[in-house]
Amino acid sequence: MSIKHVISVSGGKDSTATLLIALGRCQREDIIPIFCDTGNEHVAVHEYLSYLEQALDITIVRLKADFTQEIAAKRVFIARDQRTRREYDIEPVFEMDGKTPVPKRDGRGNIVMHKVKRNGVMVEEPKQKTRKIGSGRRVRWTNSAKRRALSALHPTGNPFLDLCMWKGRFPSRKAQFCTEELKRNVAVAFQLDLIDAGYQVISWQGVRRDESLNRRDAKKMERSGKSLWVFRPIVDWSAAQVFAFCAQQKIQPNPLYKQGMHRVGCMPCINAGKDELREIVARFPVYLEEKSRWEARVSQTAKRGFSTFFCKELHDNNMADRRVYEANRVESVIEWTRTTRGGRQFDLLAGTTEPTACASAYGLCE
Ligand code: SF4
Repeated sequence: MSIKHVISVSGGKDSTATLLIALGRCQREDIIPIFCDTGNEHVAVHEYLSYLEQALDITIVRLKADFTQEIAAKRVFIARDQRTRREYDIEPVFEMDGKTPVPKRDGRGNIVMHKVKRNGVMVEEPKQKTRKIGSGRRVRWTNSAKRRALSALHPTGNPFLDLCMWKGRFPSRKAQFCTEELKRNVAVAFQLDLIDAGYQVISWQGVRRDESLNRRDAKKMERSGKSLWVFRPIVDWSAAQVFAFCAQQKIQPNPLYKQGMHRVGCMPCINAGKDELREIVARFPVYLEEKSRWEARVSQTAKRGFSTFFCKELHDNNMADRRVYEANRVESVIEWTRTTRGGRQFDLLAGTTEPTACASAYGLCE
């Protein structure tokens, strides 16, 4: 059975180095570089992919998620929604001392047990009783929310925007469905098609252990399914080694690294930090204006009527929903990037970054 080497290319340094290694080790006809287009990339990423294609004499397959069917199904669901159930917030119940949890009991008065992990070991312990808070919320879409959502809920052809409209919200750090829906699922579907066509697939990924805590245990090679392996050739490299390797192969890094971007991907990423956002405000404000328009559109499709691209927790936990929305809107986040000391003081030097100056977070400036 023949092997296909599928290289996930993102336009960043790590995937570029991975591609260069594959080109040096494998037969060209067995290599398939793929790029999952989220619809939220900087134009420089697309230009860089064209540069790689030209410099390396390869073709990068562009893949794009399509949510047309999901949006059509959601429209039907909203239009027909007649649910009568209510949804409640809950809180745990304690004894009079305020510390001892009250156990939950079933209809016969027996304590309900459940399994939990304690210090890495699964143990069985009593489940704590909870009680409802307040009078709850209607689960059903109100008629005005239905009208609002149905007027906006139409596919646009932009995967990121369509995904958010389908979900009725933007992704967040805790619910990072964008990576899964726009990148992972699309790449896996492509690889499964190759397997169905009779190939064995090696998925090359430009992952490094020192990138984040989540990746510190990443393996160099692992079997991920029938006829499918994952290979991470630069898993133990540092960022400096990656840049040096690309330079040695006479391949330029993505120009975005020289403009203060810590990583190359969405513009901006929902997880972008304050420094990176400050650079984006100074250099690429047009992308933030676009995200502001997306906020208005996705808010129309949200049951509660609003959703924000960023979730910067610029609020205290007791703030009402509307105020949370106001605090996290793109415009508010732009203002926040101009502040210091946890957002309480205005930074007089913010906004004075010279947009043409090199501001690489990786010390790439010559
Ligand atoms: S996590 Fe960030 S870079 Fe990844 S898909 Fe989501 S927004 Fe884009």
